[in-house]
Amino acid sequence: MQGMMMQRSLQISDILDYAAEAFPTAEIVSARTEGDIHRQTYGETRKRVAQLAHGLQRHGVKLGDRIATLAWNGYRHFELYYAISGIGAVCHTINPRLSAEQMIYIVNHAKDRMIFVDTTFVPILEALKDHFPEDMIYVVMTDRAHMPDTSLPGALCYEELLHGEPEEITWSEFDENTAAGLCYTSGTTGNPKGALYSHRSNVLHAMMIAVSLAGTFKEGNKVLPVVPLFHVNAWGLPYAGPLAGLTLVMPGPAMDGPSLFKLMDQEGVYSAWGVPTIWMGLLAEISAQGRKPNGFEDVVIGGSAAPRSMIEKFEKMDVSVGHAWGMTEMSPVGTHGMLPAHMDDWDMETRIDYKSKQGRRVFGVDLKIVDEDGNRMPHDGKAVGELFVRGNTVVSGYFENEEATAKALDAEGWFGTGDVASIDKNGFLTIQDRAKDLIKSGGEWISSIDLENAAMAHPAIANCAAIGVPHPRWDERPILVAVLAPGAEKPSIAEIREHLTEHFAKWQLPDDVVWLDVLPMTATGKVSKLNLRKELGDYVHPELRETA
Ligand code: ADP
Repeated sequence: MQGMMMQRSLQISDILDYAAEAFPTAEIVSARTEGDIHRQTYGETRKRVAQLAHGLQRHGVKLGDRIATLAWNGYRHFELYYAISGIGAVCHTINPRLSAEQMIYIVNHAKDRMIFVDTTFVPILEALKDHFPEDMIYVVMTDRAHMPDTSLPGALCYEELLHGEPEEITWSEFDENTAAGLCYTSGTTGNPKGALYSHRSNVLHAMMIAVSLAGTFKEGNKVLPVVPLFHVNAWGLPYAGPLAGLTLVMPGPAMDGPSLFKLMDQEGVYSAWGVPTIWMGLLAEISAQGRKPNGFEDVVIGGSAAPRSMIEKFEKMDVSVGHAWGMTEMSPVGTHGMLPAHMDDWDMETRIDYKSKQGRRVFGVDLKIVDEDGNRMPHDGKAVGELFVRGNTVVSGYFENEEATAKALDAEGWFGTGDVASIDKNGFLTIQDRAKDLIKSGGEWISSIDLENAAMAHPAIANCAAIGVPHPRWDERPILVAVLAPGAEKPSIAEIREHLTEHFAKWQLPDDVVWLDVLPMTATGKVSKLNLRKELGDYVHPELRETA
């Protein structure tokens, strides 16, 4: 027997309509590229989003078109999220830290029709524009007074695009599975792969995290997404924030410790979200000032493992840590470290131990760990296996990429995360290792295989492996471990970096090279990274050697 309830499609535009009506005083506060602080309520935002949607339609944007953004966290980027998806187009957020090669690939692969760009990133596009279609429409996200002199053909001004357009719009209804957002993530090799979110998945994700992270999502709380809007929907905050009546405080380009401290202090930010590298900077500033920013009580740390010492520092200044784990392919939140009520009276040390784990699943995401043959392993806190996930907010494949799609899911239809984990009987996940060949530096990916392939083209390198080594600021930094070709002279790390520079962004280049006579191999003839890491157990990153 079927239930007798209406079926209305879940649409992202409903979130902003609701916030504008239900939370008239909640705001988006933005530190702008223009240098000032800008404020607008969700009601005002709703009007500007309507204007932007009309402006997009005036330029012929229709259902399914991909519209790109290359921008910091700010109200205009937020408006783009809603206006683009509101008219059934797809908001493709581009990570400005990608290499030129990767950026050219994704813009062409996505077949973007328009690119909205912050003034800061205009030079990036100017350097790449010849690789993009000639009819690409560029819009610079500022007003006429701040428009830069640019060689971008026919560059439009964002505020002029909105000017004079109606402040009302009736959103058309479409299937809730319509694509709404596109975010590319690094593959272990080759080109980035696109996660294509739908209206349904993004609305569900917003509801899921607002419930599971209830401590953060209290109406009126001021929340700072340091995690970029170009990185997996800023972990869902642009949707879950307005849904719950939060004020969002957007940091713009200034994400160093002193700037974040100042903004948080001025605005009374309750909760801030970002990767461990960001919090290193903030903690240094807190220590310099001898106090935490006014009103700061909650921090969400994810993207890389939060060190126990970092969690301890925050907890001891009464800032509650939620250690979250997720992936671009999961919209992204999978687990969150808010402790259950029965742990409230546990001693501080045990609570910090639990907070160092990656937390429990949010409602709607299922977890399993499996052995090498795909057999399920027990959730006993001891068994360690590869982590698979499933749920309404997990990708079912990659955008226009049959090869990657074919490999994404297992026979039971679960998505393989490439993380290696244990899960205890309380449901707490602990990420133990990474099976995928990727290095994560400051929250951003570097493909070890791509580094290795490019380095192998150097005549003096007979064999090599790229691995991540611990670094206090960037979590991990890449180094190259290499075997010298017979008769060759050892190139310096500077020469190797020069050799690689064409294919990688600067921050992706290895910091050091270690020469070995042979590399440890696995039975199947691949470099054993596990044994290599063990062999380099005493290795210290050059920057730390210098300061030691
Ligand atoms: P995000 O940065 O939102 O987590 P990405 O797709 O860039 O999304 O990265 C996902 C990967 O990052 C995970 O598969 C995992 O390897 C790593 N990761 C994310 N969060 C954590 C965490 N809290 N602890 C350890 N590793 C993490």
